[in-house]
Order: sequence, then C-alpha cells, then structure tokens
Amino acid sequence: MTDSIKVTVVGAGTMGNGIVQTFATFGHTVTMVDVSEDALERGRAAIEKSLGRFVKKEKISQDDCDEIMSRISLSTDLANAVSASDLMIEAVFENEEVKKDIFKTADAAAPAHTILASNTSSISITRIAEATNRPEKVIGMHFMNPVPIMKLVEIIRGEKTSDETCAQTISWSEAIGKTCGVANDFPGFIANRILMPMINEAVWSLHTGVGDRESIDIVMKLGCNFPMGPLALADYIGLDICLNIMDVLQDGLKEDKYAPCPMLREMVEAGKLGVKSGVGFYEYS
Ligand code: NAD
Repeated sequence: MTDSIKVTVVGAGTMGNGIVQTFATFGHTVTMVDVSEDALERGRAAIEKSLGRFVKKEKISQDDCDEIMSRISLSTDLANAVSASDLMIEAVFENEEVKKDIFKTADAAAPAHTILASNTSSISITRIAEATNRPEKVIGMHFMNPVPIMKLVEIIRGEKTSDETCAQTISWSEAIGKTCGVANDFPGFIANRILMPMINEAVWSLHTGVGDRESIDIVMKLGCNFPMGPLALADYIGLDICLNIMDVLQDGLKEDKYAPCPMLREMVEAGKLGVKSGVGFYEYS
C-alpha cells in the first residue's frame, strides 16, 4: 500500500465519479471538480448508489461507505483544488480544446511535483501536454467503464512523458487495485485501436447481411469467450463514442480499413446511441 495521496478529478460524469469512488475507496483524499453544481451533486449521488450496492452485497460495511464518502469533497474551483494535489485526472467531454484549457489552468496552479493525467479515449497526450510547461509530467490514464469494477488502466506515454512520471502513475494505479498496460501515443492507443475496428466489422457484418444481431453477438460471445457480443458492447459504450473513435482512427492513421460503417453513422444521426438513448442495436427500457 502506498501512502495516501491527494487527488483532483475533473469531471463528475460517468468516468469521473467512478475514478473518484475508486481512489476514495483505497484511502485517498479526492476532490471532484465540475463546472456545474448539478453535475457534482449527480456525481456524488452516483457514488453513493454504487457504494450502496457494495454494502448490499456485504463487500463493504455501512461504516466503510461513510468513511469513503468522507474522503470526497466537491468543488467548482479547479485551480484551488489542484493547488493541493499530487495527481490530477481529467475526465471531461472528449473535446481537445476543453481539455487543453483544463491542463493550462492546472499547470499554472499545481505544485511542481503534481502529475497531470487525462482519461481521454483518443486525443493525443502529446498535444494535450503542449498546453502545459510540464510535458514530462503529463500522461494518459485511460480507465475502463465501470471504473470500480474494471481492472485495467491503459497508461499512455506522450512524446515527453518521463520514466519517473510513468513509474509513479503505474504505482498509484496498482495501489488502487488496477493493472496497467502501457501504450505509446498513437490514435486509439491499444484498447480502441483493436476493439473499435472489431466492433465496426460487426456492424458491417450486420449491414451486409452476414448475420442478424443475435447471431453476430452469440458467435463472438461463445465462440471467442467474450463477456458480451460486439453489438451489445457498442450499445453499452455508446454508438456516438464508437463513431467518434473510428473517425479518430481514420483521420490519424489514414487507412480506408478504419472507415466507419455507414450504418453506424446513420444510427448516430438518427439518435440511436445505444443504452443511453434507449435504442441502439437492441432496445432498452
Ligand atoms: P460525461 O459526459 O459523463 O461527463 C463529463 C463531465 O465533464 C460532465 O459532468 C461535465 O459537466 C464535465 N465538464 C465539462 N467541461 C468541464 C470543465 N471545463 N471543467 C470541469 N468539468 C467539466 O463523460 P464521460 O463518459 O465520463 O467521459 C469523460 C472522458 O472519459 C472522455 O474523455 C471520454 O472519452 C473518456 N472515457 C469514457 C469512457 C466511457 O465509457 N464513458 C471510457 C473510457 C474513457
């Protein structure tokens, strides 16, 4: 167990609140920052609900839950939060300019030793680091959803990320029960470079009539021992996110094999985004 550290997590959404919960569960003090008070309140409620499920399953006690919640504070003031932090993890919308603004503010306010990490799924860590005067302390920490359950943190080294920053980030990740894989700063890193073309191929298979949705998913689930089929997984991730990542792969790698299937784009344009919109490849109520 490493010493307890102070962490600022920027963004109280799906990923942000999961990251906050995980660090607080392992004894760290966490400030959750968002631009919106409502988002902070929703993030706090999501953490309480998630911990409540662990209490129900008797994985933690109600006292543990109260203690974990007591380590979490909420703020709309990024500069103030990060000025007392060892680690910042940014988990806001997948928008390069918004992320660069956050890194610029954090760089100006944080102590010299603070590591600045991004949970981006696809934006270049090297480009984000250019918004700071400490590119050697900027790194990708790509958590998987749901963060409290999923074991992986994909670590992404930007062009200037130092060995010390990488080793420290891996050590902190392991101290919250995660295992790391390290990727260099290519479009999609490792996870999405391999997963998204597979999902895209499943959409092509549906689009061109190779099989129906159930057959495609059951063949991959039972045949490849995947926990869920690629179309069901795409619904869970969000079809807009899948499309955005395929666009990033195609733009960055300049190869036709990364072109998103037209069916994926049409579904996104029709508002069929998967679980979060109630309809994707499957229907959700
Ligand atoms: P989300 O939409 O659920 O939450 C984003 C939050 O950021 C919102 O609460 C919003 O109010 C807040 N925000 C926006 N601008 C801000 C700012 N300037 N300062 C502070 N807060 C701000 O998003 P998410 O699904 O949690 O994704 C966050 C990041 O994690 C993205 O980069 C995404 O690519 C990445 N990611 C997502 C998943 C996933 O499955 N959802 C998995 C891995 C990585």
